[in-house]
Amino acid sequence: MIPISFEFYPPKNDEQRAQLGRTAKRLKAWSPEYVSCTFGAGGSTLSYTGDTVRALIDDHGLDAAPHLSCVGGTREELAALLQRYREHGCGRIVALRGDLPSGMGHPGEFRHAADLVAFIRAEHGDCFHIEVACYPETHPQAEDALADLRHFKAKVDAGADGAITQYFYNADAYFRFVDEARALGVEVPIVPGIMPISNFSQLKRFSEACGAEIPRWLGKRMAAYGDDIDSIRELAGDFVAGLCRRLVEGGAPGLHFYTLNLARPTVAVLERLG
Ligand code: FAD
Repeated sequence: MIPISFEFYPPKNDEQRAQLGRTAKRLKAWSPEYVSCTFGAGGSTLSYTGDTVRALIDDHGLDAAPHLSCVGGTREELAALLQRYREHGCGRIVALRGDLPSGMGHPGEFRHAADLVAFIRAEHGDCFHIEVACYPETHPQAEDALADLRHFKAKVDAGADGAITQYFYNADAYFRFVDEARALGVEVPIVPGIMPISNFSQLKRFSEACGAEIPRWLGKRMAAYGDDIDSIRELAGDFVAGLCRRLVEGGAPGLHFYTLNLARPTVAVLERLG
């Protein structure tokens, strides 16, 4: 089996903390290379990511990587977080620009994720393995697909060691993106981000915002199942496992699962993959 990793978000109350604890315990059985924890832009959830990463390391014995987004943050705040993560023993960071919550004013000192990657390298040398984000179906704010690819390359040139893609359900988009990145001279591993399907209407909303295309036939089939949860789960598991199989057979160097802190949808895919 190729390396797998799991992404969590920071829980904000006791109930969510307990749920993440159960999920982390269940998914640990699949021996992830590492797990990661997202970071809310704009300061409101600054401390949750650090606390969650610490719990994943100390309570679950997992190698946990914090996400760090630079939008809305100052150089001092980011430097303090990096120092804290280094003291926690984190060896890996997912470095992002992030998105400002609507209505929030100040964009911060770093415009793009490439600036954050360069900052981490300048301040901490090779202490952190740095992952960045990339977009096989193109980031929604990019001028165009080729400009987006060049901006991805700039993050690698600034010092990123690897990349995780936005989720997608079209394997061809991933393969073409990887080919084009390689043609530009990008050599780092590009790991597909996999979104198992649990709540289809929520997924449709998410996907519109982040620019991920959901196949029409899948939407139609899901709608036809109505409240038949068993059929929906069966189709979701088969479909996402089929995508993963194709990606792995086509040379994907790993799989990064967006778990949304739920074990079941990810386990349904992993069990099908054996
Ligand atoms: P960038 O690489 O800076 O790119 C953002 C946009 O700017 C793109 O359109 C790019 O083409 C463009 N751009 C880049 N450089 C230039 C330039 N020099 N000139 C002009 N345009 C440029 N969000 C969170 O808030 N918290 C998280 O924890 C989080 N985790 C994520 C994990 C993964 C694996 C992925 C794929 C996304 C994640 N996101 C997260 C979402 C991400 O923050 C958003 O997609 C955000 O809009 C872009 O972040 P980025 O790091 O890709 O930014």
